[in-house]
Amino acid sequence: IQVYFEKIRDAEGQIAATMLVHRDITREYEVDQMKSEFVSTVSHELRTPLSSVLGFTELMLTKELKPERQQKYLTTIHKEAKRLTQLINDFLDIQRMEAGRQSYEMGDLDLLPLVQEVVETFAVSSPKHELNVEVRALSTRVRGDADKLKQVLMNLIGNAVKYSPEGGVVTVALRTEPKALVVDITDQGLGIPKDALSKLFSKFYRIDNSDRRKIGGTGLGLAICKEIVKAHEGEIKVQSELGVGSTFSMYLPREAAEEAAPAKLEAAA
Ligand code: ADP
Repeated sequence: IQVYFEKIRDAEGQIAATMLVHRDITREYEVDQMKSEFVSTVSHELRTPLSSVLGFTELMLTKELKPERQQKYLTTIHKEAKRLTQLINDFLDIQRMEAGRQSYEMGDLDLLPLVQEVVETFAVSSPKHELNVEVRALSTRVRGDADKLKQVLMNLIGNAVKYSPEGGVVTVALRTEPKALVVDITDQGLGIPKDALSKLFSKFYRIDNSDRRKIGGTGLGLAICKEIVKAHEGEIKVQSELGVGSTFSMYLPREAAEEAAPAKLEAAA
C-alpha cells in the first residue's frame, strides 16, 4: 500500500485542501517485478551463447589450430549464433503477443497441407524418428493465420521429436469435434511430471530433470503456442505420463454449419 498526501488546488493554484491517499499498488509492483525478472532472464539467456561465440572466436584468432579443430569450433559458433537468433525471435514474439501488438492475417485455410509440410520438415531433419499423419476429420478447413498456425505446429511437433528418443513414433492426428478441429500430437517420449503440467505454458518454464538437461530450448515455445491459439479463440490441452509419452491437442473453432449443409439440401429435395 502506498500512502501519500495529495494537494488539492483551487482555480488560482492555491492549496485548498490536502487529501490522504491510500493506494493499493500490488498490481503495479507485480508488473514491475515481472518486467525486471524478464529482463534479467533475457540477459542471462543471451549471455550464455554469446560468451561461447566470444570464447571460440578468441581462441581461433590467437591460436594456430589444425583444420579439424577449426571446423569443430566453427560448428559450435554457428550453432550458438543460431540459438541466439532463435532466442531473440522468441523474446520479440512473446513480448509482442502478450502486449496485444501481434497482428494476425486471418483467412479460410486448409490445415492439412500445413501439417504435412511441417511433418515433412522434421522427417528430413530427424530421420531416426517415425512421423505419421492421420486424418480422421470431416474437414480440415479452419479460419486462421497460416504462418502463425504453422509456428504452433513447428513448436508442438518439434517438441514431440525433441523430447523423445530415436526410434520414437510421433503421430499427428486431425479429428473433428462438434465445435472444433482438433490436432493431436502424440509422442512416445519422456513425458511430463504431474506437478509440471500447470506450469508448462508459462514463459521460460523448463523441466529441470536430469533426463532432459542436455536438450536445448528457451522455455518460450509453449508460451508462444498458447498466445497464438488463444488469438484463434482455441485452446491447447495436454495429457502425459512420465516415461510413457505425451499428447498435445490443439483445438481450433470450426463452423458447425459445414456438415449440416448436405442434410438441408436433402430436406429441400
Ligand atoms: P523448450 O522446449 O524450449 O524448453 P517449451 O515451452 O516448448 O520450451 O516447453 C517447456 C518444457 O515442457 C520443456 O522444457 C520440456 O521439458 C517440456 N515439454 C514440452 N513438450 C514436451 C513433450 N512433447 N514431451 C516431454 N516434455 C515436453
